[in-house]
Amino acid sequence: MATDPLPASPLSTSHFQSAVFDEYLDSARDHARRYLHRLPDRHVGARAGRDELMSALRIALPQQGDEGGDVIGLLAQQAERGAVACNSPRYFGFVVGGSYPVALAADWLVSTWDQNAGIYAISPLVSVVEEVAGQWLLELFDLPRESGVGFVTGCQMANFTCLAAARHHVLRRAGWDVEADGLQGAPRLHVVASAESHVTIDVALRYLGLGTRSVHRVETDAQGRMNVDRLRKVVASIEGPMIVCAQAGNVNTGAFDPLREVAGVVRERGAWLHVDGAFGLWARASGSLRPLADGIELADSWATDAHKWLNVPYDCGVAIVRHAQDQRDAMTSAAAYLIQTRGEERDAVDWVPEFSRRARGVPVYATLRALGRGGVQDLVEGSCARAREMADALRQVEGVRILNDVVLNQVLVRFGDDDELTRAVIAGVQRDGTCWLGGTTWQGQGAMRISVSNWATSEDDAQRSVAAILRVFHSLRTGATAPIA
Ligand SMILES: *Cc1c(COP(=O)(O)O)cnc(C)c1O
Repeated sequence: MATDPLPASPLSTSHFQSAVFDEYLDSARDHARRYLHRLPDRHVGARAGRDELMSALRIALPQQGDEGGDVIGLLAQQAERGAVACNSPRYFGFVVGGSYPVALAADWLVSTWDQNAGIYAISPLVSVVEEVAGQWLLELFDLPRESGVGFVTGCQMANFTCLAAARHHVLRRAGWDVEADGLQGAPRLHVVASAESHVTIDVALRYLGLGTRSVHRVETDAQGRMNVDRLRKVVASIEGPMIVCAQAGNVNTGAFDPLREVAGVVRERGAWLHVDGAFGLWARASGSLRPLADGIELADSWATDAHKWLNVPYDCGVAIVRHAQDQRDAMTSAAAYLIQTRGEERDAVDWVPEFSRRARGVPVYATLRALGRGGVQDLVEGSCARAREMADALRQVEGVRILNDVVLNQVLVRFGDDDELTRAVIAGVQRDGTCWLGGTTWQGQGAMRISVSNWATSEDDAQRSVAAILRVFHSLRTGATAPIA
């Protein structure tokens, strides 16, 4: 591609030395490539703990700094043992995606450009890229195209942003301007949430001054889905402004609330429906999984993550609000020195809680453009297929039980119907290092938790991981010591 030659600077007094950038970036690139080349085969968990890392990294803050290249080398060296390979294709802990090569490369450019992506005036490029990426997400999820979109640090802040818009909207309808007058003296605002809602919903409610004690919790079924009859009763028993929080994708089971029915109840009541779809919203990208999220388009706001299932590097979440003006009213900043646009150009400060911010929508643009709809569909369906394969292989073994219906990418496994044995298997697998997964308590029972969210997890990775899990399980059952890799 032809590019215009850069005009030479008329001054030669700058400290800017391209050669130093070359040296450090070449070194970082070499370290990064080595890290990535080893990634598929390395011990998945961390092998260094706090003591080892402290002794390698803690020195008195130097008066005279160290050579930059040495510092980069030291960090890279310590990552070998001190970092968890959570972008490994055999990392199944929490809900953590890897990074697509194109997403990582785009993220390097974001750091290189060092754009403050808060306002258009600082970066027309990022403003436009994020505007387009936001529209693509609305198309992919098939949500109202006029919705507001904000790229935030994660689903925690996406839940916060959406619930701030909700708070603004329902109180305005009750004749109260919460942005100007705050919550003191405001009409009582009721929040209804699934008993299984993610902890970040509670945290968002705390940040918003709504607190958690008075949340009306709606019981769920054995999969963690909201019971609609209970919801109907709860909603009918409360008067005044109301926000209902549902979820698409339970963090343990992957289950979806019955969203069409939930939306029917909430709409009839004139309340606001928020859906936490940190990873579940991505089911909308797949024809076969889409029915799980049926009715989700009837909600008023949706929170999701790109750093989980879209596999962009940390950190990136997305807040989507049907009533864009409410999002804007709740989030906008204005100051005399801020050069904000009056035209069509988009200033991110109007849509997110942050003021200065990273151009985190850029890797989203790059990944969506490089994958296309088909690629996202393959990603989501592939993860779910791997989860089913692992569940099917495990459930055939005597003494192993799968606790959930594997409808998405999450699997709960219990060993010997015993909390202690289950915990011992999890610890043994973490030590073994073939894969990494964590534990949880599901409806009073200890369980191993498998989440398949990485684009690179192959059938072979799933099989190797199952073999490692069973190796540990059998060795514990026969009383032998777990193999230590
Ligand atoms: C991960 C998760 C969150 C929080 O997202 P972050 O990106 O960690 O802030 C919220 N809700 C659900 C269902 C999640 O899985």
